[in-house]
Amino acid sequence: MDTYHEESLRRDIVRTSHALHARGWVANHDGNLSARLDEPGEPLRLLCTPTAVSKGDVRPEWLLVVDEERRVLQGRRRVFSEIALHLAAYRARPDIGVVLHAHPPHVCGFAVAGRPIPHPFMAEAVVSLGPTIPHVPFRRPGDPALLDALADALQRADVVVLEQHGLITVGGGFEQALLRMELVEHLARIALVAEQLGGVRRLSADDVAALSRKGRPPSDPPRPGAERPEPRKDLPATHVSPATRADVRAAVEEALRRFR
Ligand SMILES: [Zn+2]
Repeated sequence: MDTYHEESLRRDIVRTSHALHARGWVANHDGNLSARLDEPGEPLRLLCTPTAVSKGDVRPEWLLVVDEERRVLQGRRRVFSEIALHLAAYRARPDIGVVLHAHPPHVCGFAVAGRPIPHPFMAEAVVSLGPTIPHVPFRRPGDPALLDALADALQRADVVVLEQHGLITVGGGFEQALLRMELVEHLARIALVAEQLGGVRRLSADDVAALSRKGRPPSDPPRPGAERPEPRKDLPATHVSPATRADVRAAVEEALRRFR
């Protein structure tokens, strides 16, 4: 990658990091951002934010260059532990150039309640994001099952909710990944308002099929020579969280109440 391009990525990562903080989508040291520096066919090499800094304070000289083994090749700070999620995303999606992770509060509200965002319910969002917003069940950070689930989900979508954790969005560049994050947070807010007004009315399956016929927008800017993988047919269209013990207890209590 040429120096000019790397310099513009450095500017973009800092600007996007500050935007995540300004919008209230991160608190404390939450969130992390990365962009790939390798050309197609080369080993992965990422430009990323360091750990333990507010995303509102990130400066260009704090950024790290990190390899696939999480070794810091450039920069003085330490790499964040969630880098494994970023690496899994880039391995799963050779077409993407950028990964964002943050904790937007309305998305996280759904993520901690164990409720999927009831997408699709707005036509334009289907065109922009496709028909599914996958939710990945909670696993402790570093659990290989979490990385596998994320990689699977990214075959179907460019945005993935991590239950009891946050949101990951990917894109060709920072603008695309940030706009995707903005849209998911916006949908979560709308869904919450709709809940208070009696509930979300979903789009019909016919409408969703028609709206998503062209497929989700490709990575922008496109990565030369790297195509997005075809969506896998053997994966479920939406993730349904397994019932928790509390869900089962509530269902049993409800049934007993009815038969009393
Ligand atoms: Zn996180």
